[in-house]
Amino acid sequence: MKNNKRIYLSSPHMSGNEQKYIQDAFETNWIAPLGPNVDAFEEELASYVGMKGAAAVSSGTAAIHLALRLLDVKKDDTVFCSSLTFIASANPIAYLGAKPVFIDSEPETWNMSPQALERALTDAVHSGNIPKAVIVVNLYGQSAKMDEILTLCNRYGVPVIEDAAESLGSFYKGKASGTFGRFGIYSFNGNKIITTSGGGMLVSDDVEALAKARFLATQAQDPAPHYQHSNVGYNYRMSNILAGVGRAQLEVLENRVEARRAVFDRYYHELVSISGITFMPELENTYSNRWLTACTIDKERTGISVQELIEILSEENIEARPVWKPLHMQPLFADADFYAHSESENVSEQLFQTGICLPSGSNMNEEDLSRVINSIRNSLKVEV
Ligand SMILES: *Cc1c(COP(=O)(O)O)cnc(C)c1O
Repeated sequence: MKNNKRIYLSSPHMSGNEQKYIQDAFETNWIAPLGPNVDAFEEELASYVGMKGAAAVSSGTAAIHLALRLLDVKKDDTVFCSSLTFIASANPIAYLGAKPVFIDSEPETWNMSPQALERALTDAVHSGNIPKAVIVVNLYGQSAKMDEILTLCNRYGVPVIEDAAESLGSFYKGKASGTFGRFGIYSFNGNKIITTSGGGMLVSDDVEALAKARFLATQAQDPAPHYQHSNVGYNYRMSNILAGVGRAQLEVLENRVEARRAVFDRYYHELVSISGITFMPELENTYSNRWLTACTIDKERTGISVQELIEILSEENIEARPVWKPLHMQPLFADADFYAHSESENVSEQLFQTGICLPSGSNMNEEDLSRVINSIRNSLKVEV
């Protein structure tokens, strides 16, 4: 079995057109810095999601860092953030010396719980410590309950940063994921739905703020004939070569979303009838890119834990992963406050105990899918 081809969780899927844009860059010697592919990639992405502008940067993490800077987040400020997410959502809070407060998930989207957010905001108002920003994550492609979250944040005038690193190509009530907050961010890391090998994008309707983001991302160089700097800047811009890869990838985004949704549908139809397996829901009026197919495994009913299943799949050369370990459980953030969904329900911890992400690449073929499905069926200690 070990000689089977390895099936990855989510591997890069090139369109074949990337070379054309890279070739253009070589022919005009626009290797770096910046260049026409960067400008075009920004315009094409902004227009696809329906925002006024975009700034292409070296990673999604860099985009979050810039968004926090643009919102003037400083040392000892408070920033709220979804707890059930990848560490990159919150690392930039730490870069700025600010304090994260983590908000639990709710069961219908696995994303930020509006009722936990409301309690956190009420407490923040009472203690005179209103957050400078709220970072809302759209996990595995599923949009958070943006209407409820925005209503609460608007009530207290708190700007929202939408971490749409995993949800490019998803929609919430007909509007593109990543376009709901003051700023949205996308990632083009190698495992994301489209990739530039590494990269990110900051989007906004505030074009002045985006101009400032580009300034901060190029070492904050003041307009002067000599090298002059009055602000701390970063080297965060995307290269013209990688932006070329991004342009070709954006052309096939919809295709990639359809393929990932088909992967989800296949798992769903093959496994949904098994008692103890529950799939991540898709909230009504939302369209998920199904970046990763995620489900929960009830050990009592399936006879197997998530850890055991991941090990068995790994022996078959299949990569599966647990869902993100909530950030409020991370040693790095041991001192941070956390607001659970309710007094009796800690949804993110529950999902962490029982959740698994299955291989979901848009380049998986029929044989790959059958292999994963059969391995899962064979590993369950119940009649299926
Ligand atoms: C991938 C990811 C990021 C960071 O993106 P990079 O481009 O890898 O820096 C941020 N947030 C979430 C939720 C992610 O999954």
